[in-house]
Amino acid sequence: MEFTLSEEHQMIREMCRKFADNDLKPKAAQLDKDHEFPMEEIKKLAELGIMGVVYPEEYNGAGMDYISYAIAVEEISRGCASTGVTVSAHNSLCLSPIYYFGNEEQKKKYLPKLCSGEHIGCFGITEAGAGSDAQGTTTKAVLKDGKYILNGSKTFITNGGVADVAVVLARSNDQPGYKGLTMFIIEKGTPGFAVGKVEEKMGIRASSTTELIFDNCEVPAENMLGSEGQGFKIAMHTLDGGRVGIAAQALGIAQAAMEDAVAYAKERKQFNQSLSQFQAIQWMIADMATDIEAARLLTYQAADMMNNSNRQQYSKQCAMAKLFASEAAHRVTHKALQIFGGYGYVTEYPLERYCRDARITEIYEGTSEVQRLVIAASVLKSL
Ligand SMILES: Cc1cc2nc3c(=O)[nH]c(=O)nc-3n(C[C@H](O)[C@H](O)[C@H](O)COP(=O)(O)OP(=O)(O)OC[C@H]3O[C@@H](n4cnc5c(N)ncnc54)[C@H](O)[C@@H]3O)c2cc1C
Repeated sequence: MEFTLSEEHQMIREMCRKFADNDLKPKAAQLDKDHEFPMEEIKKLAELGIMGVVYPEEYNGAGMDYISYAIAVEEISRGCASTGVTVSAHNSLCLSPIYYFGNEEQKKKYLPKLCSGEHIGCFGITEAGAGSDAQGTTTKAVLKDGKYILNGSKTFITNGGVADVAVVLARSNDQPGYKGLTMFIIEKGTPGFAVGKVEEKMGIRASSTTELIFDNCEVPAENMLGSEGQGFKIAMHTLDGGRVGIAAQALGIAQAAMEDAVAYAKERKQFNQSLSQFQAIQWMIADMATDIEAARLLTYQAADMMNNSNRQQYSKQCAMAKLFASEAAHRVTHKALQIFGGYGYVTEYPLERYCRDARITEIYEGTSEVQRLVIAASVLKSL
């Protein structure tokens, strides 16, 4: 097993870390406070090739591997978790299904503008009545005169308010469960397609989370992604990769919290000594560092498997990485806040924001309970 990062991996870490320190960290608190989408920062990240990290250069992608992608999301999230999820949802959830399941015409039409960052993408499977159970999807797609007419709505869609392109799951025939589900590419401005409620959130407040509404929405038949009835498979394939992105986001938040807590513990004095000299604080630092290291190894291992193996092999690792990294981020951000004492609880310092931002990583792209279902099913099958 190889534990060293290549020169390319180190370069992307350095580039994204510098960007996070100079462009994201100084603005993250204000963006969070104002619930302001980081459009300026996303445009700059696009110039750095971060809006199409793993996709081929022929589609304007950066042509890098999934470890580079995980490192990019980790470092960006270390600076601003809202920007991290914006990048992750765009790359993992919108670009990925078009790249892996689109026909050549669809790839040529959509990927170049998405990879260059000229367009932003989103992915909609969740509905009011279909969360963990995507097979409960009720948004309907009916074929009529060469167009699919979509009716229904999607909830909690990341990048929903800013997306130019949405990849959306709908029920296109009467077959029960997953068999009747089909995926569609829907462009902003399509008749009958609108952005609905904008969510007010606990954390990642600078990210856009909205409802998508389809009211007799007319989608050209050629915008069906993959084949009819393949929608659920595309969704599951997409979420596997997405989980590496969210694991990396959790990792970045945890790393930021630990760095701040260590600096504070060295500087702050009580009882005539720095906090870092108390064994109770040292134990928290040791636990944080161990959690982060384990999360990083699992995340990079899952990313590496995405580079080199098939979905049957990497699905469990992606679920493990997301489960462990998100729960580690929960533990680490709360310990880091504890080290700050009262100063951790007030908004002058970013610790309370780290806790709020970390919490969602245990919920979206499959809750921790769903990750445990995926892992257990795989273990029970293999042993
Ligand atoms: C900020 C944010 C951004 C999001 N972005 C997107 C996006 O871009 N695209 C998108 O499609 N969705 C998105 N989501 C939706 C997200 O993926 C869902 O919220 C999540 O999958 C859980 O679904 P739910 O909220 O309906 O919870 P439910 O499915 O109702 O679950 C409620 C509770 O029951 C548990 N539970 C459910 N089923 C089981 C089971 N079989 N066994 C054990 N426990 C179970 C869950 O783990 C959870 O604890 C986003 C959500 C948020 C909050």
